[in-house]
Amino acid sequence: MNYPNTQLYIDGQWQDAADGRTLAVFNPASGKEIGRVAQAGTADLDRALAAAQRGFDTWRAMPPIERAKIMRRAAALVRERAADIAPMLTMEQGKPLVEAKGETLAAADILDWFADEGLRVYGRLVASRTNLAIRQMVVKDPLGPVAAFTPWNFPINQVVRKVGAGLAAGCSMLVKAAEETPAAPAAFVKAFADAGIPAGVLQLVYGVPAEISNYLIPHPVIRKITFTGSTPVGKQLAALAGRYMKRVTMELGGHAPVIVCEDADIALAIKASGTAKFRNAGQVCISPTRFLVHESIRDEFASAMVKVAQSLKVADGLAEGTQMGPLANPRRVTAMAEITKDAIEQGATVLTGGERIGETGNFWQPTILADVPVAARVFNDEPFGPVAAIRSFEKLEDAVAEANRLPYGLAGYAFTKSLKNADLLTREVQVGMLWINMPAMPSAEMPFGGVKDSGYGVEGGPEALEAYLNTRAVAVMN
Ligand code: NAD
Repeated sequence: MNYPNTQLYIDGQWQDAADGRTLAVFNPASGKEIGRVAQAGTADLDRALAAAQRGFDTWRAMPPIERAKIMRRAAALVRERAADIAPMLTMEQGKPLVEAKGETLAAADILDWFADEGLRVYGRLVASRTNLAIRQMVVKDPLGPVAAFTPWNFPINQVVRKVGAGLAAGCSMLVKAAEETPAAPAAFVKAFADAGIPAGVLQLVYGVPAEISNYLIPHPVIRKITFTGSTPVGKQLAALAGRYMKRVTMELGGHAPVIVCEDADIALAIKASGTAKFRNAGQVCISPTRFLVHESIRDEFASAMVKVAQSLKVADGLAEGTQMGPLANPRRVTAMAEITKDAIEQGATVLTGGERIGETGNFWQPTILADVPVAARVFNDEPFGPVAAIRSFEKLEDAVAEANRLPYGLAGYAFTKSLKNADLLTREVQVGMLWINMPAMPSAEMPFGGVKDSGYGVEGGPEALEAYLNTRAVAVMN
């Protein structure tokens, strides 16, 4: 299939950058350039900002039910086009076609849910303390044009979680999606264009990330920043947003602990977290990463994980039967080589994997490391790749302490048959999302987000809409 070049979408028009600049897009399976993406400059951003302001005025004035109709039409188009969008996503990002299709279809579901939830943005009436002739109202309004920054690991999903909530709340959106994976987000935005979204309500730009964020965040038109990406970049953007008093949602990195208790159903733990470990080649913010396994079952668990890793078909995501594709960019291959080398030097054992596959593309072997010292980088820095690091523990309290040791607090997993253990873990593990005896199951209606250095604000459930609303108090005496 042909991979398209990607333009900017500003004020209802697809267009090249004003100065014609473009960036190359590479297929991570071949390392070859497959297309170009327009690189926005200041003139383009100025047009996008002016359009976003006009778009906000139009969109907030539209009854929520009309906004919902457009969102549902866009969702239907995304669903209809999933078979065409998914291969583009695989070509630019690397994930297996089946995962790309799943991501695209899930985006349609998320849009539908937010379209409905937008109808339920209610205020309330509060009785006055002094005089019942006073009507006290709590009013919820869309907060204004939003700048959204999204990464390359889920090119569509990261966009829909922001756009779905923002549009449902009545905000206009200026999205800077990832330059490395531009075509899938553009196809997603095209569904809105074809669904009849008014000009200016939704903008899509690409360029040099720091240039764009440094320009948009301080700009007076922008009232909110939402970012998904690494913790260091999130801290920079949140600091800048703070200087300009902008509302912020930050969905940042994680380093998910997987606590496998002595009484765990090992087959379930492997089924739930073994396959999940290698989904999207481990480039998932909620990917299971620090496996903390009770010492009595450590060997059994580790050999089962090795079996999972060795059974995976690793190939071009477009090839039939591929279960794990290449890493999305060469930086990740370098990172895998570095963390593996460091772990070995610090005394860890490589049970399987640990090497790059071939010379073409960004392929890395599904890797299982055992007896990983707590000081090893892989147990401290987010690996963001197909590497599972295992340590054993004696007492559950020690596993909890290890889970909470890092500044991250995004996702966590645990496996136990004991209600007492489950209760302890629920209370003590400091994460924004905890799944016990099951794989991760994010959905539009459940909050998605982290605590501590993993960020603030959530991207699912009614709370996701709150993040795009101003709450105002109005009182009228008659
Ligand atoms: P990075 O930290 O340079 O970039 C992460 C993301 O932020 C990218 O999408 C990038 O385009 C964007 N970005 C970087 N600087 C920016 C700026 N000044 N303004 C606006 N956007 C900016 O690293 P990377 O090599 O692209 O990704 C590697 C790390 O990022 C991973 O190790 C992982 O920790 C993190 N990451 C997290 C997620 C997530 O879902 N939370 C997604 C992708 C990457």
